[in-house]
Amino acid sequence: MAKMLIAGKWVDSYDGATIDAVNPATSEVLDTFPRGGREDARAAIDAAYDARGKAEAMTAYERSTILLKASQILEQRSTEMARIISQNVGKPITDAEAETTRGCLTLAFAAEEAKRIYGQTIPLDSSPFPPGNKDRFGFTIREPIGVVGAISPFNFPLNLLLHKVAPALAAGNTVVIKPPSDGPLPGIMAAKILEEAGLPPGIVNLVTGPGSTVGEEIVTNPKVDAISFTGDTSTGRMISEKAAATNKKLILELGGHDPMIILDDADLTRAAKLATTGVFSYSGQVCTATKRIIVSEAIKDKFASAFVQEVQKLKVGNPLERTTNMGPVINAAGLSKVQELVEDATSNGAVVLLGGQRLDSEAYSKGFFYSPTVLSNVRESMKITQQEIFGPVAPILEVGDAEEAVEVANNTVYGLQASIFTSNLARGIKLARKIRAGAVLINDRTNMRWDNAPFGGVKRSGLGREGVSLAVTEFTELKFIVANLTE
Ligand code: NAP
Repeated sequence: MAKMLIAGKWVDSYDGATIDAVNPATSEVLDTFPRGGREDARAAIDAAYDARGKAEAMTAYERSTILLKASQILEQRSTEMARIISQNVGKPITDAEAETTRGCLTLAFAAEEAKRIYGQTIPLDSSPFPPGNKDRFGFTIREPIGVVGAISPFNFPLNLLLHKVAPALAAGNTVVIKPPSDGPLPGIMAAKILEEAGLPPGIVNLVTGPGSTVGEEIVTNPKVDAISFTGDTSTGRMISEKAAATNKKLILELGGHDPMIILDDADLTRAAKLATTGVFSYSGQVCTATKRIIVSEAIKDKFASAFVQEVQKLKVGNPLERTTNMGPVINAAGLSKVQELVEDATSNGAVVLLGGQRLDSEAYSKGFFYSPTVLSNVRESMKITQQEIFGPVAPILEVGDAEEAVEVANNTVYGLQASIFTSNLARGIKLARKIRAGAVLINDRTNMRWDNAPFGGVKRSGLGREGVSLAVTEFTELKFIVANLTE
């Protein structure tokens, strides 16, 4: 049975309750993990609070060495980690391997950034208090915030957790991790690796259990100074409201409805291939998955036919098989949501070009599989263009020109990433500047992220930026120190 890490000890929940960790492809129970509650969360927060002095006393070089060691241990255990990710969240094994490699990089980047937390000297004007006194010397330092609550989602159960924990540790904070209940095992293994890398007890703690109790305790407890959250926009809003009472610093990475614009001068073969990975990677359960394909009317039919041909090549099946491109969605609720959005679209005039139903034959019957689906004739009034899909569905909307494409792209409450396909780079850059999103990719898919580059959304897609060096800055407070040099 998996356990929680509190104050350097691996423990069960306060009342011994457990939850099954299930494989969404097979419904097999992989393990059980503690159903922690508020008492457990409080114990972890107390441990993190008490360990602040220990974390602050470590030099930047000591923190860096531990993070680098953790990266090396993860690399040595990458086969095991990838398998756990694949089984616990139904991710194709090759994608799980890529996530593990990125996890190693995230830790290694954080190890480097730990040594680059710089301050500045500030030229001071002559202060009026007392008048004319110029003999002062001012400089800034960056200090850890204190206790960071790291609440992460199921879809990248290792790397999104490390994007919080590694920069928070690099900056000298202590951390309480709350991994997702659908997919906690990779996060538990990551905490073990950090411990093994030499992190003193109490600096990293991990509590499993429901978001509504464990998560909420972390968000409301006055001993927690900052929350780094990745998840649904509605959960993020609730967290913002509750964290406001204790004025916690918030970094929110939330939902998206990323558009891919394909203009009449685009390379359609390339667009069709990249739209396929953009929409269907990890069954569309990626915050930056392409969730709307916006195509110029003039090339709509040609694109749709090339795209359907590409999508038909996808092999849906057991995520542990190396030839599988797409596995299940995470759970029954995720599957129902996809079914509901597709039904709403088709009953309002969308046309199914491919798929459009649950896969329930023998090979799929024990998992939450939905067929790769392409819908045309989609209108902006349909729920599928406004609510986050999080499933293997590609809605195609047609537009008259590039200006209209940008208008449609911007017409959601989200603003995470977007992409534009055009053979004219200047046109692409001009349009990119008109799109309200945290990142715009030209002639590429939307679901790309580089671990050391800025990452985050605008509008209801988020607040603040990840990307290791930016996250390290987010996890520090700037202190201004002035010395009066008058003798
Ligand atoms: P979620 O349901 O919001 O859950 C995320 C985390 O929040 C889980 O650990 C969850 O715990 C916890 N939680 C739930 N209710 C809470 C509460 N009241 N207080 C504190 N914590 C609470 O999201 P998800 O379904 O796991 O992930 C999918 C969503 O994440 C999508 O919307 C996706 O777009 C978004 N996402 C965004 C990014 C980004 O970087 N912008 C990246 C990946 C995913 P339980 O699991 O126990 O419920």
